[in-house]
Amino acid sequence: MMNLTPTLQDCELLDAQDPLRALRDQFDLPPGVIYLDGNSLGVLPKTAPARVAHAVTHEWGTDLIKSWNTAGWFTLPQRVGDKIAHVIGAQPGEVIAADSTSINLFKVLAAALHIAAADHPHKTKIVSERSNFPTDLYIAEALCKERGYTLQLVEADEIAAAMQADVAVLMLTHVNYRTGAMHDMQALTAQAHAQSILTVWDLAHSAGAVPVDLNGSGADFAVGCGYKYLNGGPGAPAFVWVHPQHTDRFWQPLAGWWGHAAPFAFTPDYQPAQGITRYQCGTQPILSLTALDCGLDAFLAAESLGGMAALRQKSLALTGLFMQLVRTRLHGHGFGIATPAEEALRGSQVSLTRAAGAYAIVQALIARGVIGDFRAGDGGQHPDILRFGFTPLYVGYADVWNAADQLCQVMASGEWQDARFTQKHAVT
Ligand SMILES: *Cc1c(COP(=O)(O)O)cnc(C)c1O
Repeated sequence: MMNLTPTLQDCELLDAQDPLRALRDQFDLPPGVIYLDGNSLGVLPKTAPARVAHAVTHEWGTDLIKSWNTAGWFTLPQRVGDKIAHVIGAQPGEVIAADSTSINLFKVLAAALHIAAADHPHKTKIVSERSNFPTDLYIAEALCKERGYTLQLVEADEIAAAMQADVAVLMLTHVNYRTGAMHDMQALTAQAHAQSILTVWDLAHSAGAVPVDLNGSGADFAVGCGYKYLNGGPGAPAFVWVHPQHTDRFWQPLAGWWGHAAPFAFTPDYQPAQGITRYQCGTQPILSLTALDCGLDAFLAAESLGGMAALRQKSLALTGLFMQLVRTRLHGHGFGIATPAEEALRGSQVSLTRAAGAYAIVQALIARGVIGDFRAGDGGQHPDILRFGFTPLYVGYADVWNAADQLCQVMASGEWQDARFTQKHAVT
């Protein structure tokens, strides 16, 4: 089949034979929508409305403050963290679900700089990628200012050469949010460690999307997002992982009472808890954690069907199919493919480039019920991007075919040039 352009019937057959197909039923997908933006905001797990409603009316409404103990609110960050640990190659007890990705990045980057300063005081730099997600770069820039370090930004192919003896921390996002290109975590971590460089990985576009093996790759720190591929809902808590050899070495800078060894002793001085618990700061959003817990249950359901390995296989088939359809059916419409063709280098999204019109084309697709998104370029080396996320938990092969077909129609009709599609919204 792969030599010929697949037909809709081919794709429907693939869906019928897909061993993961039943997982789609765990989610509430609005009718008439092909959702290719799970890399930005995951869909609603069917269990979430009732679970959150129970937490509101019963746990909060009836049991009130007793619920910190009786409903297990107090340990929810750890329990949700344990479920996340399972999908990122960490052990139970090594991950906490809390705060936002930006805030967790601040904590781990600050801790990494503490460790670097203690072990290698001559080191002066953090290295990251110029096309990293901006909040990561802003957090690093602010910390560098405060601690007297320099942030060095390089292109992906310059990372290896940039790992010099004066580098304290290599801070990378595992799967690039714009292009979907994936780094080799194990190889880069090994190279970094050979120069006594600590690694901080952002798994925002990896957790739940591709297999991640934090323990196996010897990484030092990781953070990631709850509302993308983990389907935790808008503003869901993020997560943080620290290698056990580092957790107890230093305080993280946001040393709030939830990271204290005995928060209810109410002592005036800070005594950090052992392990990842010290990476908590203050009271966590229980309702949001409850929704995130529902999102993670879908991964438990996937476990008996082959888990992340099976999800990865399907994800590669979906992204590969979309790229094949773009190459064959959209030939001549000015699209480039920014996502690597090589499977080992690809996350779970496909990003298309186009010299002009990317925003309007995405808007025209959304009007037709195919939801992807647009990411602005820099007018230079990094072009505008039409971004399509393929979440193997709930996207099917026929969805991919229909999305490509709708894109063909948008281009053939020229409807994307209509003025209503060029109006920019606040959130793209
Ligand atoms: C989505 C994303 C974030 C989001 O950070 P928030 O603190 O949740 O706003 C951060 N980093 C990367 C790489 C992302 O993709």
